[in-house]
Amino acid sequence: MANKNLKCHVCHKQINGQYYYDWAGHSICASHIHSITKCASCGQFCDNHAKDIGLGMQICDHCQKYRIEYKDSDSIIQFVKNVFQNTPIGNITHWKLMMVDAETLYKKTKDKNTRGLAQAVGTEYTIFIYRELSRVAFAQVLAHEMLHVYQYTNHINPPKALCEGFCNLGSYVVLSSINNKEAKAAIDNLKKSEDPIYGYGFRLLLSVYEKDGWLGALKNIKEY
Ligand SMILES: [Zn+2]
Ligand SMILES: [Zn+2]
Ligand SMILES: [Zn+2]
Repeated sequence: MANKNLKCHVCHKQINGQYYYDWAGHSICASHIHSITKCASCGQFCDNHAKDIGLGMQICDHCQKYRIEYKDSDSIIQFVKNVFQNTPIGNITHWKLMMVDAETLYKKTKDKNTRGLAQAVGTEYTIFIYRELSRVAFAQVLAHEMLHVYQYTNHINPPKALCEGFCNLGSYVVLSSINNKEAKAAIDNLKKSEDPIYGYGFRLLLSVYEKDGWLGALKNIKEY
């Protein structure tokens, strides 16, 4: 099947036959799928405008342009806080933010797919987040990590799939209130995730949330 108007993002030739596409509308020949790097922030296909951030990871030009800076982190923190404040979760306190580079976070997590981490320091928590993320990805990761802090500080300790699913539900609700193309793509990824913990746990809590809202989701994780 030839796709007359489709140019490949990698080899710039007209695409013939099977192809893959990303949320930003880039298509690539199927033959590139194993060699292409996906943006560590938003997941779109990287090209030669992408920036290396170490560990073989890259950030696309979209995310470089909309990169989170310390100066805009305050307004995004406030945005995420407001989303939770209007729910039974309320105010999440006892944490501070540290934006770190990919290698620093990797040293703590040993997992390249982890873009954030909430760590206890005494009775306070530090939320570590990649400093290379776009604002949308930052909001998504922050919402997730804030709900870890919420669970820790309220001594809620469900099985891992429910714990991570609940945090991803927070990301989902925050992304839903951003409502742009990048946020919609991130929601799609959450819903499609085949991860037995993050994906399964999220879909389970989403179905509870769609029926019974946050109170239903909270009841679900508090049963343990
Ligand atoms: Zn190609
Ligand atoms: Zn990106
Ligand atoms: Zn988590």
